[in-house]
Amino acid sequence: MEFWKKIFPTQLSDGNRSVDLIKRLLSENFRQYASRYALAFVFMALVAGMTSLSAWIMRDVVNEIFVDKDLSRTIMISLAVFAIFVIKGVATYGQNIVLGRIGNAIVARHQKLMYARILKQDATFFQKYISSDLITRISHNAQAARDVLTMLVTSIGRDLLSLIGLIIVMVVQDPIMSFIAFFIAPPAIYGVARLVKRTKKIAKAEYLSLTKIVLAMQETALGYRIIRTFGLQDIMRERMEEAVHGVEHKANKINSISARTSPLMETLGGVAFALVILYSGWQTIEAGKSPGEFISFLTALLLAYEPAKRISRLQVRLEAGLVGVGLMFEILDSPLSVTNSDNTKMLDLKEGEIILENVSFEYIKENPALNDLSLSIPGGKITALVGPSGSGKSTLLNLIQREYDPGQGRLLLDGQDIRQVGLEDLNSYISLVTQDTVLFTGSIKDNIAYGRHGASDDEIIQAAKDAYAHDFIEGLPDGYDTIVGENGASLSGGQKQRIAIARAIIKNAPIILLDEATSALDSESEAKIQKAFERLMEGKTTVIIAHRLATIQHAHSIAVIKDGTLIEQGSHEHLIEKSGFYAHLVQLQFGS
Ligand code: ADP
Repeated sequence: MEFWKKIFPTQLSDGNRSVDLIKRLLSENFRQYASRYALAFVFMALVAGMTSLSAWIMRDVVNEIFVDKDLSRTIMISLAVFAIFVIKGVATYGQNIVLGRIGNAIVARHQKLMYARILKQDATFFQKYISSDLITRISHNAQAARDVLTMLVTSIGRDLLSLIGLIIVMVVQDPIMSFIAFFIAPPAIYGVARLVKRTKKIAKAEYLSLTKIVLAMQETALGYRIIRTFGLQDIMRERMEEAVHGVEHKANKINSISARTSPLMETLGGVAFALVILYSGWQTIEAGKSPGEFISFLTALLLAYEPAKRISRLQVRLEAGLVGVGLMFEILDSPLSVTNSDNTKMLDLKEGEIILENVSFEYIKENPALNDLSLSIPGGKITALVGPSGSGKSTLLNLIQREYDPGQGRLLLDGQDIRQVGLEDLNSYISLVTQDTVLFTGSIKDNIAYGRHGASDDEIIQAAKDAYAHDFIEGLPDGYDTIVGENGASLSGGQKQRIAIARAIIKNAPIILLDEATSALDSESEAKIQKAFERLMEGKTTVIIAHRLATIQHAHSIAVIKDGTLIEQGSHEHLIEKSGFYAHLVQLQFGS
């Protein structure tokens, strides 16, 4: 219990009112599928009509067969009954097919919209929504949109129309009995309304538990080795069981609330039926009324019972679905924090010089990660960022990529403020190689080709050669077609890194951002990676977070960053001579 409370300290936001959510769902989806919905309504109207007709015809069934004993009419009626049921069957089929298709289109549309929105997001967004939350939202909540719309449409189209048709039959056959039967409506509505409120709260809690299951599973798949070596199985199992129980418990609660509408409706229904039978029995026996009307009325009442029950339960079911819809809209409406300015200019890059002018940035208020930092990064050369951990080096790379915009100051690329450049345009000039190599599920060839659309096989092989990866790739059973597994699970750390470098080489961007790996690699790998990096950096503006002395010494310029500010800049020799903070760092780290 304690563990999950820390991870999800707050409840989900209360979201919008149900009515607003429904309005929005309808306004965004109904028109788009209007013609198909119209077709579905035709089918549903047919179903409703046939249902009412089947009740209506019962009068003739009873009166013609049992009272008048007319054989030829009996044959006619039986044929008519057959026809009614066939039409109803076909219409139900049509309705299910059409609504099913619309529903699936709505799920697909919302999943695409959500993903498109998520792709536009930056670091702030991915910190707010952890991956398991996003996975659950995209897989479950788009379905909620379908469920809510389908529920609404079938309730209005089929159930309400059937109910109206059947009520007409009832009223025509016997107005007084109808009056008795309708007495049950007001108490039923009151009873159901009371159950609705609780559903909403429980549905939200159920969603949270679902996210927990995905999170626990994800971490287990990623960290299974750590789980095994540190014997964390019991802890993980407890976590998972708690989350699973959460979902089970909440689902049971929703189920029991939804089920509670049944005894309510059954009891009230029983009262109505008993009264109707009493009254009509008395009418037929004492007042000599023909039984046809009674049977027809009773059939209509019995048939009306199911749609009435479904409509009464509609709100409870809607509320549960609307929670998901609200969570989906939250993603679709999530603000984009680094947005393209309205009048973006195309970046005109020649030298590739990067200048930071008095840049300040804070992730958390009053806690600057960068503080009035000014730095000049010359074009086509290597600039190494050095400094204690937490000093702001990664933040600086993030800002160059416009993962965030600075609170104060500006960043210039060949004199152009990067805030005026479109994000896609900017990123097309930048290659990023991070410490934790990211490979995507697919073949090695695909992973290298992600560097540039439409790269030819020859170019891919050349990039792999330049990244000192060709030999090991050739040695794999499937060569370039080897599937790398989830995030390159089948490759060694050094191999993954070289593939990532090949990907950056093939992109051939004029600006290279590198976060050098801190983890120790075997010396052969290390040497190859070093060479691969050198190949990648040739003639490019490179900003590198350097951890190795070899890299630092090769750098044209070293920027020493401490507490978010630049404290020294110059060549290795120059800074050593100066005996300042850098010289101190080098001595600490490399013992020279
Ligand atoms: P470095 O790369 O030099 O180790 P960073 O740029 O990662 O340093 O971090 C600079 C400061 O900003 C640190 O104090 C760190 O705790 C903080 N920080 C980094 N990323 C975030 C984040 N996403 N949210 C809040 N604080 C952060």
